[in-house]
Amino acid sequence: MDRKPPLCTLCRSRPSIYHRRYSGERLCARCFAKTLRERVERTIARFKMFEYDSRIAVAVSGGKDSLNLLHLLHEIEEKFPKAELIAISIDEGIEGYRDEALRFASEACRRLGVEHHITSFKELYGFTLDEIAERNIGEVTTCTYCGVLRRRALNTAAREVGADRLATAHNLDDMAQTALLNLLRGDLRRMRLMHPAGFSLEGFVRRVKPYCEIPERESTLLAYIRGIGFQTKPCPYAEEAMRSDIRRFLNYMEARRPGTKFIVYRTALRIIESLGAVEETVGGVCKLCGEPTTGEICRVCQLLGELEKR
Ligand SMILES: [Zn+2]
Ligand SMILES: [Zn+2]
Repeated sequence: MDRKPPLCTLCRSRPSIYHRRYSGERLCARCFAKTLRERVERTIARFKMFEYDSRIAVAVSGGKDSLNLLHLLHEIEEKFPKAELIAISIDEGIEGYRDEALRFASEACRRLGVEHHITSFKELYGFTLDEIAERNIGEVTTCTYCGVLRRRALNTAAREVGADRLATAHNLDDMAQTALLNLLRGDLRRMRLMHPAGFSLEGFVRRVKPYCEIPERESTLLAYIRGIGFQTKPCPYAEEAMRSDIRRFLNYMEARRPGTKFIVYRTALRIIESLGAVEETVGGVCKLCGEPTTGEICRVCQLLGELEKR
């Protein structure tokens, strides 16, 4: 028997292509894409992420999330003629991986007419990530090196292009995973730092996460529907074991109880908000590089120092 898909819950005219289990909706491609864009707009408004004249640096890795976010912000920005969008990418120096992703990023920026800045680990730190991996025989994983160095590189790049906001494309899955990770580690300081609205600290460009309520699955579907080419290869250094366990657990729970990821994310927000505003005082500047830090020597310089010893 030939069964037609049910009609879209929203427009009631086109056939549905997606069943959104956590809401019960069945959506056609057009309505699906529209709901995601509206959700990003609502997130931006709710957390007052941008000013009407913000200069927004978007971190674009070349994966689906950041390319979708770039496209969505580019569309949303049209309503705000005084706002500006600049894409920034970090080239960690991972042969056969990042070079491919950067091509997707550059291609998207060229098509949209968005300025694109690329900053490399090599020029900032003197090492590519491949070189770091070769020298790294300590307890710190290469993945951790990358996380710390990329965080700094994004801030440096955003400052260099004169941005007052740094938008990153963390999705709902990332947020729910980070929330559980911090809970399991008992790390409330980090829990506060994950807030999607970010916070102002001297020396740091305010980080915002407008994509934080988009489930990973829907992000993939959106990229396919819109014909956005993105990198699918996983990073060769990805090795955060605990996060992988949590990812599997959350996917399992989401399949059994749709909406689990939203509940984890929203509960984390309530915990963070009940803790009060972030009042991190950075204190001083690093003796070696002059960047803000709580100690005498920042984490970046500590890690780079370990490499010099080899
Ligand atoms: Zn529809
Ligand atoms: Zn330093």
